[in-house]
Amino acid sequence: MPDDPIDHFVHVRGASEHNLKHIDVDLPRDAMVAFTGVSGSGKSSLAFGTLYAEAQRRYFESVAPYARRLLQQVGAPHVQEITGLPPAVALQQRRGAPSSRSTVGTLTTLSNLLRMLYSRAGTYPQGAKRLGAEAFSPNTAAGACPVCHGLGEVHDVAEDLLVPDPSLSIRDGAIAAWPGAWQGKNLLRITKTVGIDVDVPWRDLARKDRDWLLYTDEQPRVLVDRRGEADDSTGRDYYGTFWSARKYVRHTLADTKSQMMRDKAMRFVRSDTCTACGGTGLQPDSLAVTVRGLNIAATNALSFVELTALLRPVAELTHAGAATSYADSGEATEVAVRLAGDLVSRVQVLLDLGLGYLSLGRSSTTLSPGEAQRLRIATQLRSGLFGVVYVLDEPSAGLHPADAAPLLDVLDRLKSSGNSLFVVEHDLDVVRRADWIIDIGPGAGEHGGQVLYSGPVDGLEQVEESVTGDYLFGRAEPLERPGRSPHGWLHLQGITRHNLSDLSVDVPLCVLTAVTGVSGSGKSTLVTQVLSELVRQHLGQASDDEEETAFAVDVDDATGLESFDRLVRVDQRPIGRTPRSNLATYTGLFDAVRKLYAATSEARERGYGVGRFSFNVAEGRCETCQGEGFVSVELLFLPGTYAPCPTCHGARYNAETLEIQYRGRNIADVLALSVEEAADFLADVPSAARSLTTLREVGLGYLRLGQPATELSGGEAQRIKLATELQRARRGHALYLLDEPTAGLHPADIALLVRQLHRLVDAGNTVVLVEHDLDTIASADWVIDLGPGGGDAGGHVVATGTPGEVAAATGSATAPYLRARLT
Ligand code: ADP
Ligand code: ADP
Ligand code: ZN
Ligand code: ZN
Repeated sequence: MPDDPIDHFVHVRGASEHNLKHIDVDLPRDAMVAFTGVSGSGKSSLAFGTLYAEAQRRYFESVAPYARRLLQQVGAPHVQEITGLPPAVALQQRRGAPSSRSTVGTLTTLSNLLRMLYSRAGTYPQGAKRLGAEAFSPNTAAGACPVCHGLGEVHDVAEDLLVPDPSLSIRDGAIAAWPGAWQGKNLLRITKTVGIDVDVPWRDLARKDRDWLLYTDEQPRVLVDRRGEADDSTGRDYYGTFWSARKYVRHTLADTKSQMMRDKAMRFVRSDTCTACGGTGLQPDSLAVTVRGLNIAATNALSFVELTALLRPVAELTHAGAATSYADSGEATEVAVRLAGDLVSRVQVLLDLGLGYLSLGRSSTTLSPGEAQRLRIATQLRSGLFGVVYVLDEPSAGLHPADAAPLLDVLDRLKSSGNSLFVVEHDLDVVRRADWIIDIGPGAGEHGGQVLYSGPVDGLEQVEESVTGDYLFGRAEPLERPGRSPHGWLHLQGITRHNLSDLSVDVPLCVLTAVTGVSGSGKSTLVTQVLSELVRQHLGQASDDEEETAFAVDVDDATGLESFDRLVRVDQRPIGRTPRSNLATYTGLFDAVRKLYAATSEARERGYGVGRFSFNVAEGRCETCQGEGFVSVELLFLPGTYAPCPTCHGARYNAETLEIQYRGRNIADVLALSVEEAADFLADVPSAARSLTTLREVGLGYLRLGQPATELSGGEAQRIKLATELQRARRGHALYLLDEPTAGLHPADIALLVRQLHRLVDAGNTVVLVEHDLDTIASADWVIDLGPGGGDAGGHVVATGTPGEVAAATGSATAPYLRARLT
């Protein structure tokens, strides 16, 4: 079927990626198409795994024919035919690994414009030469501060770190930064040879000797005198080279390939703001240029709201003169008006999207996935592309209903400039606005993968099988609203962090609390940072969280912390970063399975122990892929692409290990089972059965046991963590903190999740959620609403009380939405 210019549909025939059941479906172009269905039903497999993957494959084939062989190795999507498919752009939520140098400004490309403004239209010190735009970026040779090379910070060793215990002598290891073993002994001998006493406490040495030992760049080569060494009297004299502690640490950091050595060396290093550039990373000439009195570093630190206020007067100048290349200031020129106007209109889109509290200089690593996605969407809006399909992954995730409306307007603008939108979405208010809905189901995994409905939204009402229809048309059972009363309070006073300034808040104990508010109001700062750090500190629990800040908690007073004996954070971060971790290993279920195989008579005859059945141990694993089941393929533009292992075809084990069977299945077969299938197969293995039950209860019955951590969505990872918690029945009083647990979940899955959270509270625990889903908020016992806006406009408790009380509050952005839900 040739592409027909008047046929406005994409035709998919025989799609069978993952769980899709050889489906045929037609989707309109130039429309917003919503893909719905319970988690695991196959929405992403169709939208991303089939449609986007095929568009991407065609693109690579056209631009890089030599990549074809590699593409074949990775595999084309399993589909017979797709016609009418435009080029596609994916705007996914999944976190990549943003580099620490990327910022909001680089992500949106707004930084380029701002640099141009400073270069062409800035005010220069008298007589100074105009600088090129690149001189305003710390990441270029022209712009970088010569002291810190553009990093904005300097790293140096510090005496208190190099010598943590000054009461020790050098012989007893005062200089902790020096290496151990032979090299350490060598340095000790050299020190003795040059005449420094190695047996008195460090603090009793002369200042100049201490400085020399720690900081000198000299590397004297001395004939080491070994007389009087009791332990090594047969040793000969030799020439040894001295290394000061700083020299040694720097050398290690520059040279070592071992992460362990590097980590150890970093313990002696302190990072400080570079004083030469004040942390901006820019060289002095660039910092001397101003626009409206501010240098570019100051402008980068402004919120978007402040930035527009700064530049609007320039953008609106009506009597601008022509630019001159030698004037000291270009601020009132036509160029300035054009560039400022461009910046203001582009920043306006970000304000519309509720991101006015962000600044250009904000590091992209500190953005939430929802913030990053909205920035990318806004950037696309300016790209001027038309005739493409944007494939989006839950654009409403992480958004307060007040923030979702402007996002939908932006999506409408993308559509009206001639593009198609394919949106995987759970939020019913977004789904209602779609032109077309494709509902996949009816269940998850093997029980899903069929198209239940494809057509305008209203028509779904007739489809009885559709769980989405149940929720969309009010047939579903509402969430429970137990309305519990608190058993005491946690009182926090004077919290200061990010936009929270001297905030006081009371958190009720032994109930389910939802913390609400628009994006940027301070919810995550309060819950996943301050509250979590306070309780962790109180419990003396080590942080398992590498992202958590190392600052002291800024709180004046906290009472009630003693009521918790455990802190559990259940977040959406991956359960592992390599395909080696999976559902079965994470939950501990796999230990039981390996024992089962090692206990078979065949395994015992052959002497195979439990280790033999681990794909991480040489004995039993496939050597080609080292037990990964996949080999990674270096593919231009597509980092981290995996292809099935040519030897074991994904089984992960060597042939001998696979010969061992339990009830007709080998261990690789077990990893291929879904949780549901495994629940039957392992029904009489109590420890396994318990994990499998809790996994089913949180709606993950469709996942395969061996599904690599890297393939799991954030929502799946979070529910695995929750199930793992639930399977350990414990007494005591734990505080559970969850950051948007419902993001990425179908309303039916939300119902399962919320039921489990209520069971935790019933068992005597306290649960606190950052939450946007109105049904979940309505189901909570207590609500703390932050706001009223984002950034500086937020950070206050606007309303707090039962959902009913908060719904009745004035001045709360959440109240009107909650009111509508409660009536
Ligand atoms: P949804 O987007 O509706 O939540 P998915 O399309 O992600 O569902 O998943 C549909 C089914 O395909 C699930 O059973 C899931 O476990 C499976 N699946 C998803 N990704 C992969 C993958 N990379 N390899 C194998 N199976 C997968
Ligand atoms: P919410 O969770 O309600 O969306 P956050 O707690 O993430 O809000 O953010 C509250 C404020 O703190 C915002 O102004 C945000 O820009 C700021 N903020 C959050 N994280 C950081 C950070 N790592 N560095 C600087 N500012 C931050
Ligand atoms: Zn510097
Ligand atoms: Zn292999």
